[in-house]
Amino acid sequence: MNSNLYALIGLVVAVCFIMALKGLSAPKSARRGNLIGAFGATVATLSVFFAPGAQHHNTLAIIIAVAFGVIVGVPAARKVQMTQMPQLVALFNGVGGGAAALVSIVEYLSPHEKNTAATIATVFTVVVGSISFSGSVITFLKLQEIMTTRPVVFPGGRFVIAATLIGTLGTAVWVVHSGGNTPLLILGLLSLLFGVLFVLPVGGADVPIVISLLNAFTGLTVAAGGYVLNSTLLIVAGTLVGASGTILTRLMAAAMGRSLFGTLFGAFTAKPQDVAAAGEARPVKSGSPDDVAILLNYAQRVVIVPGFGLAVAQAQHTVRELADLLTAKGIDVAYGIHPVAGRMPGHMNVLLAEANVPYEQLVEMEEVNPTFPQTDVVLVVGANDVVNPAAKTTPGCPIYGMPILDVSQAGNVIFLKRSMRPGFAGIENELLYDAKTTLLFGDAKESLTKVVNSLKAL
Ligand code: NDP
Repeated sequence: MNSNLYALIGLVVAVCFIMALKGLSAPKSARRGNLIGAFGATVATLSVFFAPGAQHHNTLAIIIAVAFGVIVGVPAARKVQMTQMPQLVALFNGVGGGAAALVSIVEYLSPHEKNTAATIATVFTVVVGSISFSGSVITFLKLQEIMTTRPVVFPGGRFVIAATLIGTLGTAVWVVHSGGNTPLLILGLLSLLFGVLFVLPVGGADVPIVISLLNAFTGLTVAAGGYVLNSTLLIVAGTLVGASGTILTRLMAAAMGRSLFGTLFGAFTAKPQDVAAAGEARPVKSGSPDDVAILLNYAQRVVIVPGFGLAVAQAQHTVRELADLLTAKGIDVAYGIHPVAGRMPGHMNVLLAEANVPYEQLVEMEEVNPTFPQTDVVLVVGANDVVNPAAKTTPGCPIYGMPILDVSQAGNVIFLKRSMRPGFAGIENELLYDAKTTLLFGDAKESLTKVVNSLKAL
């Protein structure tokens, strides 16, 4: 292919990626944005085969690798439950970082003239890509609850991390200085170890911030890999991912009232938690679907707070049916959306959009909080951490400092959940024992269906 045409295709693809990001910034245009991005990525992948000067020694191996990726990736993405999406994203993201690191290693080991700038870019790709890979695997294991979601700290942990970091940086200098192959492989192994040690102490509510940070790391890895491979397209795509991932990380840290430093290193400085042990037997007020229907029927304003349990129960359509019924009775209904409700950014928006809930009924945390004192009933559907007052009252607990939906200000609070088990952060919620709280135990979808039926009968 002529090099001008190839450059033009690269430009078109870069524009596709930018338009994709623009589209993804609003729920209405997100699907279109996603398709534009996927189109750009497909064109970019195909164009590589026709790049000027491309050598076709390994075309069959590349096609087999692509086919393998498609065979594994497409069914995984199609079949994944909405609630498991963050794990999938963490894994795909980690694989991206790992792939960029591997490509740079292979490029480095192949016989060629080494120059310092390219070696530095290789070192960067290997370090950040390997950290992104092993760190993402740990976040996957945490989110899938294959390992504990709590911070994992061990005696002397901070010294082990510091030693690994110093070892990694020292080896990086050694690689640049010596240009040797063995130091680069040692560097890869040390970086993998650092990725594991870096994510293990992060626990509970901070995992989403780390996923986003690792995502930004992968972008930077890909951009540096683009420099090594002399590919403008990789530099553009990687920079976009790195920049948007960094912005998202900052926004999420701000939404959760966290400093990035505190998120990453908080476990080393945190004091033992002063939170009641989860599952402690204390009296609570539980109600029936009829009780809940009566409370709702006589309310003037109701705020529905969706959380992870709504996604587990797939109750989005039923919750909308309930909201429609209340609206038809002249009751003012809104949904209070916390930025980290569920298990991925925008999880609740996506879920409720699927049930065609009108966007204007979705009210962000800052806007809905001042309205709770005028709200008669808050219906908490499968949410826990995002309404847990411990975030304000219990220093040292995993969610301390995270802004919450202040539902305790409302007249009545109804929790729809299956048991007294805690949420993702693994801590007790005092609000469950409050005098104004009623618990409706059971799967959220089944409970909501019963409440809808009772309301219809009133
Ligand atoms: P939580 O995980 O705090 O609570 C979920 C609640 O849903 C639990 O009380 C659970 O109780 C209940 N539940 C689960 N299944 C059902 C069901 N089928 N029917 C009814 N209830 C059910 O969720 P939140 O949304 O309040 O908070 C999100 C948490 O996840 C935060 O800590 C956040 O930091 C973290 N996180 C967020 C990410 C994001 O990007 N949004 C990513 C990763 C983590 P029970 O088991 O008794 O039913």
